[in-house]
Parts: sequence; structure tokens; C-alpha cells
Amino acid sequence: MLSGKLWPAHPHPLPGECLSSWMVRTAHHNGLKVQSFGHFAFNKRYELWNRDIDRLAPESLLEQMSVKTGVTLKETKKTTLSLFEGRLFESTSLSGQLRWITPLKLYHRIYAGFGMQYCPLCLAESTDAYYRIAWRVAFYTFCPKHLILMEDRCRHCGMAVAFHRIELGKYHQLDAPDLAVCWKCGLSLTDFTPTPVSIWHQNVHRRWKWKLAVLDRGFVNSGQIKTQRLNLLHQLCRIIASHSLAPDLQQYLCEKTDMPFQHISDVKVAFEQRSLSERHYILELAWWLIEKYPRKIIEAIKCNKLRPHYLYKDIPSLRF
Ligand SMILES: [Zn+2]
Ligand SMILES: [Zn+2]
Repeated sequence: MLSGKLWPAHPHPLPGECLSSWMVRTAHHNGLKVQSFGHFAFNKRYELWNRDIDRLAPESLLEQMSVKTGVTLKETKKTTLSLFEGRLFESTSLSGQLRWITPLKLYHRIYAGFGMQYCPLCLAESTDAYYRIAWRVAFYTFCPKHLILMEDRCRHCGMAVAFHRIELGKYHQLDAPDLAVCWKCGLSLTDFTPTPVSIWHQNVHRRWKWKLAVLDRGFVNSGQIKTQRLNLLHQLCRIIASHSLAPDLQQYLCEKTDMPFQHISDVKVAFEQRSLSERHYILELAWWLIEKYPRKIIEAIKCNKLRPHYLYKDIPSLRF
């Protein structure tokens, strides 16, 4: 049944869609459950889904998706995290934490598995609900289109998003479920009042929103994204969250910006593994500090709130 030149149903990736979402939709459009599709389409006896497939899809799988859907290999690869290679991080082949990418399976039990973020309004407005690759980026904490905070779990039962598990155990279900429902409790992931993002500094949010829109477009017609500046932002996020590298910095930034002082948990985890709300808060302070670069940073250094040694540790070329 799946042996023809093209699969009987071969939906193309929707704008910005990630590979895992595209694969699940392709399975459903062919009237198959995800597990059967993996078995028939890729002759895989081993489990495809016990890894982060958007990061670690084998080349043969990408080639098969490309050939059997009539989508070029180049476009197929854009559905994976390799889209961000050389832009947000160096290489997907490196193991461990990728800079700016939220992990799906984690090293700290508190945040385990909450790496697939989503905008409930984007999810709801498509007739064929799908997930975007840009939603895996750790500074994508709000939707630039709907100006609401992203979500990373089911509001009803608290479970992480795992749309490939949606039919698991539902042997008698004939219709493929909508990908906008929770795999665990079956309730809608979009049926609640979203949280509007608070825009307390126009310039900060304008720049942030612009970067998110660039990610949404897959860098098409966007000019160059300043990778080094993003690296600096990342380093600032790490330092603001650290209780030892710059203990007074958060208080200093709150006084400068009138932002509330919010407790940042003292867990030793990468920035990408922090909760969505904590990341959003830290990013707000970091984006503010990087604005009008390097004026505010120089001021913070002069006030002994920030040490250049830590700030430029991995990006010496930006040091002024
Ligand atoms: Zn949205
Ligand atoms: Zn649920």
C-alpha cells in the first residue's frame, strides 16, 4: 500500500512545520497509526520515537520522506533542527545540550520532557493542526503573531506535549485524532484563555518579535541574523540566572527596568531546561540589557554588577 512512487497521501510540510509533526500527519492522512506507518514506510523494526526525531532523524528517513512525498531533500531538511545549524548553534551532530534548543528528554526531573512549546491560537487556527520547528527555540517564549505566551504542557492534566503518542492504546479508534488534543487526557490543548504578553518596553519587544518572525519564516528573506549577538544574549541569560556569577545583577536590572524581582530557581541546569515562565522573565531582562549595545552593558560593568570576564568568555571577538 505504501510501495508506490509516492505514498497515496503525501501532504507537504505546512509553513514552518517540524518533521515529527509532518510524519504524524502523513501517517494519519494514509489512514495509519504512527507506529504502523514507521514500520511500513521505513521498514523500521526499532522504535523511531524514542529519540528527538527533529534533531536526530537518520539521513535515510529524510530521503524517504523526500522521495515519497515529492518534497525536495533541501526542503525536507528544513523541517529539522538542522535549520538552525550555524545560526543558533554550531552543529547538530554534537551530543548534549544544543544552544537555544529546548530538550525533549532532560537531565532534571522537574522539567523533564517539556521541550515542545506551542501557541494555542496558531494551533487552533489551522484546520490541520501542526507544530512548528521554531517552537523548539528557547527564546521563543511568546507568539509574535498573537502576542500571547507560549504553552509547554496540557492545561488540564499538566502532561508534556507528545503528539506522536496521541493514538497510543486507542486500538478501536478509527479516526485520526486532531494534533491539538492532549495525548494523555484527550482534552483540547487550545481550549482556555491564553496569557497576553506584557509589552513594557516597545523597543525590546519589537526586536525580540522581529527575531521570532525570522525563525517563523525559516530565515527566508530575512537578511542575516547576528549569531554573535544572540550568543551574547545567551551568555547574559546564563549570568542573570546564576546565583554565583553575578549575584546582584538581577536586582540591579529590576531597579533599572521597574520589573518585579522574581525568584529564579537555583537549579544547576542549562538555560534551555528552565521553565517557560522563568526563561521568559530572564529573557526580558537580558534583551533590555543588550539594547543600545554596548552602552547598558558598559554601565553595568562600571557599577560592578557584571564582570566582562564571564560575559565574553566564549565570545572574545565581541569584547570592546
Ligand atoms: Zn500564535
Ligand atoms: Zn491533558
